[in-house]
This record gives sequence, C-alpha cells and structure tokens, in this order.
Amino acid sequence: MPNTLPDKMHIKNLSFEEIADYISKNNVQAFRAKQIYEWIWKKRCVSFNEMTNIPAPFREKLHSEFLCNAIQSFDEYVSTDGTRKYAFHLSGGNIIESVLIPSGSRVTACISTQVGCALACGFCATGSLGFIRNLDAAEIHDQIIMLMNFAKEKYQTELDNIVVMGMGEPMLNYKNTMAALDKISAKEFLNFSPQRITISTSGVVDGIKQMADEDRPYPLAVSLHSAIENKRKAMMPVAKKYPLLKLTEALTYYVAKTHHRITIEYILFDKINDAMEDAEALAMFCRNFPVKINIIPYNSTSTSIYHKSRPENTKKFVDFLKNKNIIVNLRTSKGGDIQAACGQLAQKQRNT
Ligand code: SAH
Ligand code: SF4
Repeated sequence: MPNTLPDKMHIKNLSFEEIADYISKNNVQAFRAKQIYEWIWKKRCVSFNEMTNIPAPFREKLHSEFLCNAIQSFDEYVSTDGTRKYAFHLSGGNIIESVLIPSGSRVTACISTQVGCALACGFCATGSLGFIRNLDAAEIHDQIIMLMNFAKEKYQTELDNIVVMGMGEPMLNYKNTMAALDKISAKEFLNFSPQRITISTSGVVDGIKQMADEDRPYPLAVSLHSAIENKRKAMMPVAKKYPLLKLTEALTYYVAKTHHRITIEYILFDKINDAMEDAEALAMFCRNFPVKINIIPYNSTSTSIYHKSRPENTKKFVDFLKNKNIIVNLRTSKGGDIQAACGQLAQKQRNT
C-alpha cells in the first residue's frame, strides 16, 4: 500500500531556515519564524490552533498549507494497572498502537515503527497482521510528541524512557526510525536524552551493524528467545536469514565500536525454551559481550500456541543465570486487560 500522507507538507519537515524563508516570502514579521519553531519543537504543539501568539489569519494560512500533526485522531484505553494504550489513526486509514507504562514515579512510552510486521514471529500479535507499511519519520516523532503530552496530562510528569518495542521491526524501517529519533533527541529539537531511547530488534544483523558504523547513541535490545539455533528458527523466521553465528558476530562488532552493553530479551515459554539446557545455551551466548538479560513473561495472543513458563521453572532459569553472575531482570507484564502488553499490539486496520 502506498504511503498516503495528504499532499500538504508537514511543517515539522521544514528546517528553521525554511520556515524563515516562508515567513519572509509571505511578508510576515521575521520574529514569527522563531515563534513557530518554538511552538513546534519546544512546546510540542500538535495543532496550529495552539499557536496563540500567532495572529489568527496567519494560523489559518499555515493550516491550509501545512500539516501540524501526522496523527489524525486517537482512541485511548486505560488498564486497571494505570497503563494507557493509544490507537493512533494515520492518514490513509491505517492504525498503530503505542503504550504509556507508569511504574512508580516513572513513565515509559512504547512506540511503533511499522503498521504490522513482516517477520511473523509465532508468539506476536503484530506478526499475525503481516507487513502493511512503514511509518514515515513524522508519524514516528509525532507519535512520541503525543505520548509526551499525554504523560504530562495524565500522570503530571515528563516521559522518562522511550522503548521502540511496539508494532514493527525498527531495523527494517531504519532510515525513518533514526530520522525521527534524531529529532526527538537533538538539542535544537526536543532534547530528550538519547541514552533513554532503547531500540529493540529481533536480530536484523544489517541494522545492528549500521547502528555501530554510525555510532548511534541509542541503547540496543535484542529479542533472542533462544540461544539454540533450531528452537530460535522455529519461533522466529528471521533467524533463518540471520543465524546465531551472524548475530554473535554483529553484536561483537557493535560492542567493539560503541562500548555499549546490550540488553537481551528472552520470553520464557513453557516446555519450549525454559529448561536447564536453554539456560546453559543462553549463558554461553552471553559470554561473548557485556549484556543484561530481561526475562519477559509471555503475554497470550489470540492466535498463539505458546504458554507461559511455570513459576517454578522460571525461578530455576533465573537463578541459574544469576549464579553465573549475569545481570538478570525478571520483568512484570502490564496492560494485559487492554491488550497493551508486549506482543499484543495488533489494532485492526480499516482500509486493508
Ligand atoms: N520487532 C522488534 C520490536 C517490537 S517487539 C523485536 O522483535 O524486538 C518488542 C518485544 O516484544 C520483543 O522482544 C518481542 O519478542 C516481544 N514480544 C512479542 N510478542 C510477545 C508476547 N506475546 N509476549 C511477550 N513479549 C512479546
Ligand atoms: Fe515483528 Fe518483533 Fe513481533 Fe517478531 S516480535 S513479529 S519482529 S514485531
């Protein structure tokens, strides 16, 4: 499906110089350029109506010529645990989902980079949609701006962390994902600390190497789920293209270049990857580079054949890794009652 943003140019795609140029061509006072730029990038404005110090007729003109927000409308779902899921409606009728997850006084935003996903992991609801389209950079950064504003409005706080763990595989939409995250983190734009934006990949080696070559500051998380080749391939078709040896090489290269610690994500499934031989293989895999392991509880999806690991097996698995002096966090799941937990994002598409 083609990318169907309307013909109007998105104002956030203009540089400051381009805004100043537009202002001067329209015979408007030069200082308006700075005001508009501040509304967009400092005050996180999502509608021209908010620009109250700009004269109304000029706001109208801007509205008729530019887009101020790539998100057209949204639905909100609130979990009993305080998690909020947003279904964002994009132009062309596609819908993506993003989540705000409060934890103590901190709030994390989980964002999407694609509508659907081509990689078809058997345990993931997004994978069951198939690939529909990439988000463009504006759709990614406007999603974050909306979530920053919602965090302020709903939890009276600024966002603490952003995780690129919603719908889609960020490494398969590399250029747009990086362009958006660069806007979010650059000092002259939103100035959000890049060390607090984690990118999660299912193990797309080319993207990992590119992040290393470009010395990207964003922490990297890798969804491993098994360090035993055949098991990984059975769960994650992407592992056929990028087997464990290639993944190990790419991660070694990444660590040598960036000196970052990698987060390994591991969902524990009953009788599939939660036995002692699986823990041993995982510990061996992790000897290659500095890592932290996040053990993720499995969240069921309507089409899945997988089940959550039993508590006693989960405990044995985690204790084994801890005894090897590996940093392990057992994550808790949030937002399950509104289908907002990891791997449950799969809003039905209107026009597809
Ligand atoms: N495509 C990227 C990022 C999006 S998925 C990736 O795969 O890493 C984000 C995380 O959610 C991944 O670790 C993924 O394995 C995990 N996940 C997918 N389905 C899940 C489920 N049903 N329960 C728990 N975690 C899930
Ligand atoms: Fe795609 Fe990640 Fe879901 Fe796999 S887990 S289908 S890579 S979004």
